[in-house]
Amino acid sequence: MLKGKTALVTGSTSGIGLGIAKALARNGANIVLNGFGDSEAPRAEIAALGVKAGYHGADMSKVADIEAMMKYAAGEFGRVDIVVNNAGIQHVAAVEDFPPERWDAIIAINLSSSFHTSRLAIPAMKAAGWGRIINISSVHGLVASPQKSAYVAAKHGLIGLTKVTALELATTGVTCNAICPGWVLTPLVQKQVDARAAEARISNEEAKNQLLAEKEPSLQFTTPEELGELAVFFCSEAGNNVRGVAWNMDGGWAAQ
Ligand code: NAD
Repeated sequence: MLKGKTALVTGSTSGIGLGIAKALARNGANIVLNGFGDSEAPRAEIAALGVKAGYHGADMSKVADIEAMMKYAAGEFGRVDIVVNNAGIQHVAAVEDFPPERWDAIIAINLSSSFHTSRLAIPAMKAAGWGRIINISSVHGLVASPQKSAYVAAKHGLIGLTKVTALELATTGVTCNAICPGWVLTPLVQKQVDARAAEARISNEEAKNQLLAEKEPSLQFTTPEELGELAVFFCSEAGNNVRGVAWNMDGGWAAQ
């Protein structure tokens, strides 16, 4: 379905980004990976699916890096047809204790980087008459939790950016939508599980169960594979007129 198209997925060396990159690759899209840590293993996983796999190590908190990454992607792959803005970090603290530099980093990586990749990708998408921008927000783009001021602000902001982008492109073949996962057991969430287990002196398993029981009625983690399939749907022909939605996949979290 996506043969000949190129998808750039930020923060795709692990977790949700890698799951989405693999789902798009299984449907034929060439992939540009990005993120920290080992890039060779994910690149090999993508290449094994029979598509072209590139990598750029841009730091999503740096505008010049983002510009260099978009140039690399267009140069190596001809054009970026699909942008998945997924890179994200978390910091947990009360507002009065929140380190200002953590606030700035979360806003830069979780929100502003999506503005930069979008502004740089849209002209070629419009010229081609087709494009997909998928912003990985969160259920925390729809509802709040204490101790997560920067994250919740950035993820709410990302849904605002999604709606404006979708409206500006509404008469073109370029769509923009957001995905809002609930708990997904990735390194980002494992850190929160570990902190809870250490603080309450409970097992890892118990900490996971508590985390789910507090927020997620299904008592199940959403998986990167499930989120990948939703991204594939947004890229399908059936997704042509899905514009500006914030689609939660959260086990009922936001329905409460
Ligand atoms: P993760 O920690 O497994 O992966 C994050 C990815 O982003 C990694 O590849 C990492 O290298 C990359 N990254 C971090 N900082 C970066 C930077 N400055 N520049 C470039 N890349 C950077 O996390 P995840 O859980 O897979 O999260 C992915 C996205 O999904 C995030 O935006 C997160 O907010 C969102 N999300 C996660 C959950 C969850 O429960 N895990 C729920 C809702 C939303």
